[in-house]
Amino acid sequence: MVEQDVTLNALFEAGIWIETGTPGVYGKSAMFEAIIDGLEALVTEAETGAERVRFPPALAESTFIQSGYYKNFPHLAAHVHAFCGCEKTHASLVQSKDPLDQWRDNLAATDIVLTPAACYPLYPLAARRGPLPADGWLFDVQSYCFRREPSDSPDRLQMFRMREYVRIGSPQQVADFRNAWLERSKDMMSTLGLDYHLDVANDPFFGRAGRLMATSQREQALKFEMLLPVIDAERRTACLSFNYHQDHFGTTFDIRPADGSVAHTGCVGFGLERLTLALLRRHGLAPQTWSADLKRALQL
Ligand code: 5GP
Ligand code: ZN
Repeated sequence: MVEQDVTLNALFEAGIWIETGTPGVYGKSAMFEAIIDGLEALVTEAETGAERVRFPPALAESTFIQSGYYKNFPHLAAHVHAFCGCEKTHASLVQSKDPLDQWRDNLAATDIVLTPAACYPLYPLAARRGPLPADGWLFDVQSYCFRREPSDSPDRLQMFRMREYVRIGSPQQVADFRNAWLERSKDMMSTLGLDYHLDVANDPFFGRAGRLMATSQREQALKFEMLLPVIDAERRTACLSFNYHQDHFGTTFDIRPADGSVAHTGCVGFGLERLTLALLRRHGLAPQTWSADLKRALQL
């Protein structure tokens, strides 16, 4: 099978994605959404006993600050602003020849930050539940996430959906969870007919100090990514990530078992748009022509 180029223009021309006037924010067709639903169903089938929780794609600013995201990834965060003018400024805005400039001049930060990763709203919930039980917790979350990375490359979106399983427990429980998912995801890729590479990875920490953090994260193999051809067979794209946060969120949000030690956490994240693009590249832009096995697996 010849791989199909998945460029932004090809996606627009085929009506699979819909332009909105800003890069990295696109509408999606029914077909694209059906593939995402199929992927989510596969992900759901592969795990048992997870507690499903859904949050809107917004974090309380207090959670954002407590998480420390601003220290590591200030360049990716987006804080929601809202109109703070009075009647006079509103009247002048309505009559303005430059409404955009005036509108911007009258904005002030709210107490809402856009969710940067689907697991962030969970940690305060886990902390509020009191002592961590002996089996720990396993959550299933999905959210639109925002990262300020405008780009014309279809695999780099500003708003995208991340499905995650999040394990909170002892270091061993988190390691077992991550190892199980590293194996399970390989089976999932063969079901989907996708050719993967698994590799150690790092998060895009900000600045010079961030480079040291990235090196340390790699040295300790805290992050793995499953890389698939999406745009380019040579420059593969991370479509799944397997993260071990050690005690970072346990300490930050004060999540502890009854013995007072600190909970460890880890998550596996599925980039739903990226996985869908990998399927379109591998199997073609017309899912009705995909093999019967693949259509059955994705409930298409
Ligand atoms: P991470 O937190 O590891 O950076 O992201 C988790 C997953 O979200 C990634 O493995 C990837 O599949 C997806 N993801 C991260 N950044 C982007 C992006 O810019 N666009 C899209 N479509 N997905 C992303
Ligand atoms: Zn996560």
